[in-house]
Amino acid sequence: MNLYVHFPFCRAKCTYCALHSRGGSTAAERAAYVARLAAVVRDRLPATPLETVYFGGGTPALCDLAPLLDALAPRLAPGAEFTVELHPRDVTRATLQTLKDGGVNRISMGVQSLDDDILKHMARGYTFHDAERAFGLVKDYFDNAGIDLIVGYPGETAALLPRHARLANWGLAHCSVYSLILEEQSRLFRLLSGDGQAALDQPPSDETVLDRLAAVARFLAELGLQRYEISSYAVPGRECRHNLATWRGEDYIGLGEGAHGRIGRIRTQNWMGEDLAAFEQVSEESDRMERLLFRLRTRDGLDATLLRGDGQAVLERNREAGLLTRDGTIYRLTARGTEVCDAILTELV
Ligand code: SF4
Repeated sequence: MNLYVHFPFCRAKCTYCALHSRGGSTAAERAAYVARLAAVVRDRLPATPLETVYFGGGTPALCDLAPLLDALAPRLAPGAEFTVELHPRDVTRATLQTLKDGGVNRISMGVQSLDDDILKHMARGYTFHDAERAFGLVKDYFDNAGIDLIVGYPGETAALLPRHARLANWGLAHCSVYSLILEEQSRLFRLLSGDGQAALDQPPSDETVLDRLAAVARFLAELGLQRYEISSYAVPGRECRHNLATWRGEDYIGLGEGAHGRIGRIRTQNWMGEDLAAFEQVSEESDRMERLLFRLRTRDGLDATLLRGDGQAVLERNREAGLLTRDGTIYRLTARGTEVCDAILTELV
């Protein structure tokens, strides 16, 4: 079984963020939240050992995670992957030691930009050098560590690419690279569409972003990180097992505010230990398709013989359009296809 745990607390809201998170929480509120999660883990979690655990958010390490780590320790399968997302400002030796002692063995640090002006505009609260120092500390404790980056933020220039050379000595095991999605609920959206527009550069064009994503991918390949999913690159053997499990259609429990889960045909949201029978149950066909289609996002590809109806024809049409390749019955995204994967998935549903 796989477990995702969501933490909704952040120091403040980053400009581009529309995730389920909020600033301004108190220490007491965060401690009560962790205590509730720990109680659910002890009393309500299905008995199957956990093969992967992922703490995301939000900013998990704003909370004292020790009570939850204690509750989870006996539930971990031997060799389980246990990831925690860290904000560079979370990184201290004390926090890293607590995580390591609690069974965590993988860190994903949100760096987002290597440009100090952009980091400032994003309201991330650190500089490139702060992030570099933080990641160096992370590597003292965790060899299996990586970062997230965003491409396409307003003000980004072609200097983005030489800047990435600064990552060459970081010892990245993993890197997730996302193109900026301008969410209507984000402060950035309001800034770009309202009074702040004049003071802010527009984001680079889609074509420019695609070129930059391709250049970042080439740079990461030079560092030995291979693309194994649309946005994910890893040193071989360091792919995120938790994310791969969900893309490959396995069950996962989603615990906490803002967490989604998939257990059999049940789909949960914001699960805090309630009776699972109270949640939505999807049809057998929806369940089958959901578990199947996300394989297209990965290097594994999608086996056309598993599709019904006109699914194979849709894949073939997209292959002819240069968006997919075919190897026997397996279809995989081309570089161009990775950029329009959601549209292909929509056609297949
Ligand atoms: S981007 Fe991450 S750190 Fe920033 S507000 Fe959103 S969840 Fe919090």
